[in-house]
Amino acid sequence: MSTLELIRMKNFFLKIIIAILFLGSFVFACGSDDNDDNLSTNDPVSSTDYDITPIISFFDGIDAVSYSINGNTLTITTTDLPNHTSPYWPTTNPLHEAYNGTNENFHLNPNRINTQNITFTISLHPTEAIDKESTRLGPIGIARNGIVFYNQYAGPNNQPLTNEINSFDQWLGHPQNTGQYHYHIEPTYLTDQFGDDAFLGLLADGFPVYGPIENGSTITNADLDEYHGHTHENADFPDGIYHYHVTPNQDPYINGNGYFGTPGNITQ
Ligand SMILES: [Zn+2]
Ligand SMILES: [Zn+2]
Repeated sequence: MSTLELIRMKNFFLKIIIAILFLGSFVFACGSDDNDDNLSTNDPVSSTDYDITPIISFFDGIDAVSYSINGNTLTITTTDLPNHTSPYWPTTNPLHEAYNGTNENFHLNPNRINTQNITFTISLHPTEAIDKESTRLGPIGIARNGIVFYNQYAGPNNQPLTNEINSFDQWLGHPQNTGQYHYHIEPTYLTDQFGDDAFLGLLADGFPVYGPIENGSTITNADLDEYHGHTHENADFPDGIYHYHVTPNQDPYINGNGYFGTPGNITQ
């Protein structure tokens, strides 16, 4: 065998080895794809496996909000700064406005609006929880303008809102002692802007909150279950979805006896 033939044979075997390595990595890659497919086909899918993707774009263009989607998880972060006027803005802020609401008993609380850093991790596919979890004091959801929802109680031991209500500003929100602005009841800035039957935000379990009117009639507690929601179709969800409603003058206002679904993480 000449030197030239030896070199040719070496090159030939080298090419075969490269080809085997290349094909091997290709087969391996296909193999992992197959595994992913198997995983997703094995996921339990029930008739109540809702998908809240249709309402995510309502958070687009809101200064306070940034969000990302990873698989089945929506991560929303908010500065919690309202996009509307309030007497709770520092007087130096252009959105500062003296109280001009209708409550004769209004009194300004000592707190002022401050930038927050609150993150919700919410399932894009909310389902009814088997064991319902009660809401806690502090954020329980996020309105479509980035302001957090609170429940129907005041601290420290779940007292009624009776005294707090008199410190709600002209858009029915107020800040607590770290300057965290929040809505316990109907966010009238949003129903004024988008309509009384509009999407208003999400609770931490991923189920949407809607305005106080549906098909021309005002929703009352009698129309809702103990969590303050019910299931049917609407403009955003033609196939139907469980959703909460705000009831303007009826306690518990936004949420009743806890989350209908399983709440995601809330960090602040
Ligand atoms: Zn409050
Ligand atoms: Zn409804």
